[in-house]
Amino acid sequence: MKKPFSILIVGGGTAGWMAANLMAHKWGDRKVSITLLESDAIGTIGVGEGSTPYLKGFFKTLGIAESEWMPACNATYKCGIRFPHWSTVPGYESYYHPFFSPLDREIGQVFFNNASLRRSGLDAPANPTDFFHAPFLSSNAYAPLPEQPLPFELDYGYHFDAGLLGRFLRDRAKSAGVRHIVDTISSVERKGETIEAVTAEDTGRHPADFFVDCSGFRALLLGSAPGYQFRPFHETLFNNAAVTVQIPRDDHAPLLSETISEGLSSGWMWRIPLQNRTGCGYVYSDRFLSADGAESELRKTLALPDSAQVNHLRMKVGRVEEHWQGNCLGVGLSQGFIEPLEATALMLVQFTIEHFLEAFSPGRPEVDHASREKVFNQRINRLFDGVLDYVAGHYKLNSRDDTPYWRAAREEIVISDRLRALIDCWDKNSDVDHMLDQAGEELVYSRASWYSLLAGMGRFPKNLRRADTGLQQESEEVRRFCTGNLNRFRSHQAQLDQLSLARQEAEPA
Ligand SMILES: Cc1cc2nc3c(=O)[nH]c(=O)nc-3n(C[C@H](O)[C@H](O)[C@H](O)COP(=O)(O)OP(=O)(O)OC[C@H]3O[C@@H](n4cnc5c(N)ncnc54)[C@H](O)[C@@H]3O)c2cc1C
Repeated sequence: MKKPFSILIVGGGTAGWMAANLMAHKWGDRKVSITLLESDAIGTIGVGEGSTPYLKGFFKTLGIAESEWMPACNATYKCGIRFPHWSTVPGYESYYHPFFSPLDREIGQVFFNNASLRRSGLDAPANPTDFFHAPFLSSNAYAPLPEQPLPFELDYGYHFDAGLLGRFLRDRAKSAGVRHIVDTISSVERKGETIEAVTAEDTGRHPADFFVDCSGFRALLLGSAPGYQFRPFHETLFNNAAVTVQIPRDDHAPLLSETISEGLSSGWMWRIPLQNRTGCGYVYSDRFLSADGAESELRKTLALPDSAQVNHLRMKVGRVEEHWQGNCLGVGLSQGFIEPLEATALMLVQFTIEHFLEAFSPGRPEVDHASREKVFNQRINRLFDGVLDYVAGHYKLNSRDDTPYWRAAREEIVISDRLRALIDCWDKNSDVDHMLDQAGEELVYSRASWYSLLAGMGRFPKNLRRADTGLQQESEEVRRFCTGNLNRFRSHQAQLDQLSLARQEAEPA
């Protein structure tokens, strides 16, 4: 398939600049002209500060070293996510969803075995927090980077300042030849499925061969398509609003390398530690809590001074049916959003752009445009729906009874047949591994992630038989092993300082 000659990206949020960079990198022979148009009157969403390990691949593709971008974006490392107050099961009031590494292979097996034994009714310790390196590293303020090289890399994600990352990526894209226009689009000119041009208030008409809609929840271009369909997820995910705040970093507290996603009365609150501040946000459902109520709960939970500035946001949760339609590709919030519980949005952004670019790789069998679009859209939808299942699982499996929100989140949400079957299989102590194997990539998340969620929430029989002390001893050994390995890793702060130093040294005097 022929690549387009001129591309107009509408929107300069993280999605727009990620698209600009990846496209310029792939088609950087300058035969393709890439322009990004954004509005300074409208602005970006200003959140989205945690990632999955997938983002590592983005920087690798572009050849951007951590020492180049992390200090510029006040970024920190992320070993996983801690989930306090989602479960009331004794011993499971908090659990950890770790990013895994080959270092966990054997001890992870102990966790899988114990979880299986506990499902069968034996009192085996099975909280994932105790079985992987990630929770030990992050709670002890280590970076997921060893002092001495290991024969493999650990999986990890990042935390970063979304505004600074946007600026960093903008400068990078511009130096790779992307043209940048600041103006506000007032109309979209279409001929049926094809977008001919957009018209902006000051700079007039902008025609292009291909358009990338990164205009955020507005979905300026995709939304103007004939037959535009948006599939809302509100029956599965109740949360539709957030209130956020940034608090200065406590210099005396250790810099943790984890996101904390803590259950509150009608939703949950993230804490994302950056080098200079902690970003926090309460994600809630306005069916159960007013904006004022959410703000006052956030203020109380964080003991905020009255002067602290908070920001209220609405979330449009769901996805489009067609991410690629005619000569337009939706990327970012315009294509859909699953609430931020597992920080997956930028992974979906990256995946969408990468697979779009792949469709133009030389040597791919020639198929007609409609079939290519269809296959592409099915693939992206599968990814969205797989993530949706995993996120929905958190709500379905919660065991809180203290507020109507948590009861409804467990009892009223509509989940997919696939998720229901998986939970049934787990509850009935059937062969969950076989089911996960069979589902393969459809479930998006790995066996270890599903086990962490199901076991971490304490989803086990209530009456357990006593286990022999060997199991307890074995988990103690795992704990000693992980703790003993800590000194093989770099302190989080020292690693970040080293990156800053490397950046300063690389900068021209
Ligand atoms: C509460 C919350 C928490 C989140 N947390 C995470 C997280 O932890 N991890 C994660 O990966 N993601 C997270 N996300 C999602 C993440 O913020 C977005 O995926 C990411 O910021 C990309 O947004 P975007 O670029 O699609 O849209 P935006 O940032 O909204 O950018 C839209 C762009 O479109 C432009 N635009 C709009 N209309 C016009 C117009 N008429 N003319 C010209 N330009 C226009 C604007 O100027 C702007 O540049 C979160 C989202 C929310 C709501």
